[in-house]
Amino acid sequence: MKAVFVEQTGGPENLKYADIPKPSPAAGQALVKIAASGVNFIDVYFRTGLYPAPPPIVLGNEAAGTVEAVGPDVTNVLPGDRVAYAMARGSYAEYAAVPAWQLVKIPDSVDFQTAAAAMLQGMTAHYLTHSTYPLKAGDSCLIHAAAGGTGALLVQMAKMLGAHVIGTVGSEEKAQQAKAAGADEVVIYTKEDFTAKAKGMNVVYDSVGKSTFMQSLDCLRPRGLMVNFGNASGPAPDVPPLLLTQKGSLFLTRPSLAHHLATQEELDWRAGDVLKWIAQGKLKLRIHKVYPLAEAAQAQRDLEGRGTTGKLLLTP
Ligand code: NDP
Repeated sequence: MKAVFVEQTGGPENLKYADIPKPSPAAGQALVKIAASGVNFIDVYFRTGLYPAPPPIVLGNEAAGTVEAVGPDVTNVLPGDRVAYAMARGSYAEYAAVPAWQLVKIPDSVDFQTAAAAMLQGMTAHYLTHSTYPLKAGDSCLIHAAAGGTGALLVQMAKMLGAHVIGTVGSEEKAQQAKAAGADEVVIYTKEDFTAKAKGMNVVYDSVGKSTFMQSLDCLRPRGLMVNFGNASGPAPDVPPLLLTQKGSLFLTRPSLAHHLATQEELDWRAGDVLKWIAQGKLKLRIHKVYPLAEAAQAQRDLEGRGTTGKLLLTP
């Protein structure tokens, strides 16, 4: 089967599109014939080596498709089921063997591309707004990269929960999209100082990292929560605990989706909400572009190049 992988970490030119053996499902796994695979920043981190893994690394952490076969001890899915999943590496491929418990059945009204686009970024927005800091009416939050794939979903969920949302974006066009997603105020942080507008926030959701982290601390109210959940501009700097005292007894966390899908119940809750809201039209996904699998390197260049808004997908 065709797959996209790296033998040596580095730039997008290191991605190889070539044949590798088709996997067969081991005990507890299902073989999924992939219809669409999501492109996420985590794939870039594995490609560059920021997140280490033994080579060859088949990239991709999210897909939707059809169960083709199941290994021993699998009872939750059957061949022919339409399924989607996130956080099992190897989805930039025609097939993937995935732990069956991670598979979620796709509602009939949701197509494969929508399901693939929803899982990783949707469940991330869900845990950030419902678990890391459970937002409620009257809370205020700052969301960086608010027109991005994850950012636009975060804005929508924060608004569903009644929070006041300030979003930051890199361009005028993205500002329009963040507003369309529901942001109450938008700052173009490549031109303006966002700390002037965002003051006294209950929580900052910062996926940009290096270039925004320190200023983000100044946007929080005393005892506010700093959530650094990504490294789009590079990893956030080290922080001495005393700095958190000086900035107002702040709380700091660096969460990962992997730890927020810890049980079957948690996965069913988050994926169930996300897919239900999409089916009901309450949560809108924006698919930026669908690329052939062979063009995965270009998709990653586009994601890193800050020119995209919404989801990038690959189709085998
Ligand atoms: P996005 O679609 O949000 O793309 C990244 C955006 O980050 C860009 O469009 C850009 O928006 C902004 N950005 C700011 N500075 C830079 C820079 N120097 N280089 C590149 N982009 C920059 O991507 P995703 O939705 O896939 O991911 C967003 C973030 O969320 C990533 O950091 C990712 O790691 C994180 N994430 C974390 C998870 C977790 O559980 N911890 C799970 C899922 C995602 P603009 O031009 O508006 O600044």
